[in-house]
Amino acid sequence: MDPFVMQEREFMLRLTDWERRWPRLVAGFSTRKGGASQEAFDSFNCGLHVGDIPEHVIENRRKLAEENGFSYASFTCADQVHGNEIRIIADSDVGAGRMANEEAIARTDGLLTDKANVFLASFYADCVPLFFYAPEVQVIGVAHAGWRGTVARIGPRMVETIARTWNTRPEDIFAAIGPSIGACCYEVSDMVADRIKEVIGDKSSCVLVAGSEAGKYMLNLQETNRILLEEAGILPGCIEVSHLCTSCRTDLFFSHRKENGKTGRMAAFIALKEG
Ligand SMILES: [Zn+2]
Repeated sequence: MDPFVMQEREFMLRLTDWERRWPRLVAGFSTRKGGASQEAFDSFNCGLHVGDIPEHVIENRRKLAEENGFSYASFTCADQVHGNEIRIIADSDVGAGRMANEEAIARTDGLLTDKANVFLASFYADCVPLFFYAPEVQVIGVAHAGWRGTVARIGPRMVETIARTWNTRPEDIFAAIGPSIGACCYEVSDMVADRIKEVIGDKSSCVLVAGSEAGKYMLNLQETNRILLEEAGILPGCIEVSHLCTSCRTDLFFSHRKENGKTGRMAAFIALKEG
C-alpha cells in the first residue's frame, strides 16, 4: 500500500503511518479534488502563482489547514525557485505567503521548524515533495525537489541543516518522498541525465533508462532522492516512498507535464500540534 493514503475527504492523502506513530504530527499531500477552483485548476488548486482566481486558492488552502486542525493564520509557504535555499521559520515568518505570493518567504525551496502550530506548505505539479521529521528534537520540514533541486542536493542539505541546527544525527531523521511524476512518464534530455550522473555516480544506472529516442532518458527522480537521502545518513528503513505518478493520475493530481503547463498545484503539508 502507498504510504500516502486517500482520506474520506478526498482532497487529501495522509501519511497515516507517521501520524499513527507520532500523534503530534500532521502530514500529507493534497489532491485536485473537492475544491473551489474552475477549468484548468479544477478544483483543489493550492498555487497562487498559476493564474487562478486568488479567492478560490485561498478558500482551498484555508480548508486544508482548518480540516487538519490548524488556523489559516499559521499557513506558511515560500516562493519556490528550484534552488536549494532552506529557511528555518522565525516567528515573523509564520503565515508568510498565505494571502499573496509576493509575501511568501523569498527564493526558498526548503522549510524547517520546531515550532508547534505552524502549517508548513509547498506546492507541486510533478516535482518531488520531500517530507522530514526528527522526532527526538520535534523538527519538521518539507522541501521541493524537481530535477534542479535534486541535483542541487536539497534533500541532503535538509538533513545536514536539521542535524547541525538541532544537534541530532541523520540516523534519527525520518523522510518521506511524496506523489510526483514517475519514471513511467518523466522523459528528460541527456543534459539532465548528465547532471543526475554527476550527483549519484554509478548509482545513476538504477534511475535512468533509455527513452523514446536517442539522447532521451526516463528518469526515476523519487529513487534519485531516496539514494541521496540514504547517502546523507538517513537509514533505508526510515524513508517512505510513494509510487503514485502525478502524470498517470490526472484524475487525482495536477500534472505540469501532462497538462502542458496550464494547471494547478497540490500542497505538501506538515505541522506539529501543541505537545
Ligand atoms: Zn506515470
